[in-house]
Amino acid sequence: MKAIAIYPDSGKLALIDQPEPKINASDEILVQILQVGICGTDREEARGGRADAPAGEAYLVIGHEMFGRVVSVGKDVSKVKPDDFAVFTVRRGCGKCQPCLMGRPDMCQTGDYKERGIKELNGYQSTFVVDQEAYLIRVPPALSEVGVLTEPLSVAEKAIDEVMKIQQVRLPGAADLSNWWQTRRCLVAGLGPIGLLAAVALRLRGAQVYGLDIVDQDSPRPQFLAAIGGKYIDGRKIPANQVDSQIGQMEFIFESTGVAALEFNLLDALGPSGIYVLTGIPGGDRPLEIPGAELIRQLVLDNQIMIGSVNASLRHFQMAVDDLGRAEDRWAGLTQKLITQRYPFTSYERALLEHPEDEIKTVIEWEDKL
Ligand code: BGC
Repeated sequence: MKAIAIYPDSGKLALIDQPEPKINASDEILVQILQVGICGTDREEARGGRADAPAGEAYLVIGHEMFGRVVSVGKDVSKVKPDDFAVFTVRRGCGKCQPCLMGRPDMCQTGDYKERGIKELNGYQSTFVVDQEAYLIRVPPALSEVGVLTEPLSVAEKAIDEVMKIQQVRLPGAADLSNWWQTRRCLVAGLGPIGLLAAVALRLRGAQVYGLDIVDQDSPRPQFLAAIGGKYIDGRKIPANQVDSQIGQMEFIFESTGVAALEFNLLDALGPSGIYVLTGIPGGDRPLEIPGAELIRQLVLDNQIMIGSVNASLRHFQMAVDDLGRAEDRWAGLTQKLITQRYPFTSYERALLEHPEDEIKTVIEWEDKL
């Protein structure tokens, strides 16, 4: 079968031939890949950055945002049957720390976790993959056009779920927990796929959503935001440190820009006892100049929280599938508009190296859906 691989030592990207994976245990599932999304991490890998081949191997098969169709299942598998659509999670635990042992490798404490397509385990950019049932989520057929968005949405779901739970613990009884997000003022910074999917999840929960980016109002990202009832802030006209004076303070900030200076400066827009979650991973090591004392003063005097969040657990993947369903019910056909570029796997170089201006999410197609 074919697979897209990166050779970390030389940085070479290639379409390779690999033996087809086989089911070797009763809890394993063989999946035919339909689509795999491309994100900043894949592009970083393709440019010679973060990509670790499996021990003793020269290459890493890339890809972690997968969507596929079940071909066959081991005898103990009960979640899916052949022909069902499904998604596998990304991270595999270290087997040593408590979070990994309790099924939360996304919170690994040793750093010895592995990630399919990123760190020491081959990924999903190939014709077939095999993995265990414990890492699989079934995707209903009605979501076959958007199932490939499950992984990026799972990252937003984890961040949103964490901040809500933290805030509920800080002020129990301060709000109706079943309706906790209703009308809360939220800022999503960076309207890439993760930011826009976070905006979808927040709007589904009834939050007021502002989205900040540096593109024209009539371009695809702000238009998508408007279609789900969000309001666009053009960061070229209203810089981060003027959001509070011009738009108002935010109770929650979700960051997915990966621009370190902005990540700090956005703190300025956070209101008292607000919470700010960072998901963007900045590149480079250039030192920054930020109004440090002022930001820390605000953080302390206003009881604010700033947290980082990465990866997602199986439960967050399930939340993502559920929200994709709710989004489909509310805005039929809209979420799939996030997929702006589709390339056959043979055009992997273009898919990974080109970055058209109107792009939101690029996916590689491995096979037409039946
Ligand atoms: C993936 C995460 C992963 C992270 C760090 C992201 O692109 O979506 O699942 O944990 O990269 O490697």
